[in-house]
Amino acid sequence: MINTINNTIHKVFTELEKYNKPTMLEQLHEYTHYQLLIATMLSARTKDTTTIPIVKKLFKDHVTPQDFINMKIEDLEKALYGIGFYKTKARNIQKSSQILIDKFHNVVPDTIEELTSLPGVGRKTANCMLSYAFNKPAIAVDVHVHRISNRLGWIHTTTPEESENALMKLIPKKSWGLVNNLFVDHGQRVCFPINPNCNGCSIVEFCDFGKRKK
Ligand code: SF4
Repeated sequence: MINTINNTIHKVFTELEKYNKPTMLEQLHEYTHYQLLIATMLSARTKDTTTIPIVKKLFKDHVTPQDFINMKIEDLEKALYGIGFYKTKARNIQKSSQILIDKFHNVVPDTIEELTSLPGVGRKTANCMLSYAFNKPAIAVDVHVHRISNRLGWIHTTTPEESENALMKLIPKKSWGLVNNLFVDHGQRVCFPINPNCNGCSIVEFCDFGKRKK
């Protein structure tokens, strides 16, 4: 049974990897861990195509936590305009930056507990940082990962937190880093929240939901 599911997971990931493209954090690889954290916080509920140009412009003159704290909140909000919930995120960035200075000596921590202790950093953001910035095994579960894993029939969960735990038990650790990238892309391209394109889906043969629709 374990071999069968591992085989299926391998086949699904191999198929989806054909469409793989760099993640937002891979596209921003030249920046510091602190800047990647800011970019990840800002990317929640915002398209990468919106987030990337805004952070690139901002990061030209703002590199350290102190640089962001020194900004007037109105100026930071203005710089973030276009990002979802930009006013809340501006405040969280300044609060988190102060904590990084006071508690973490200006170094972004690399544990889930420490990362999620920062205002505005939830498990998804923290797991993205662990996986993409620190190269540690982690599964960042967003709406796409949660929806597609359930549609495939790999898990049967109702919340992203449950999905994270269930997927960590199911998927071999060496593949955890693939899940977010591949499923977010598949969710944006094919497996839409409403009316997924099952007829045009390259992994339909492995999907409980897709097979039921046939
Ligand atoms: S078959 Fe349909 S529901 Fe299943 S992964 Fe593909 S698009 Fe999504």
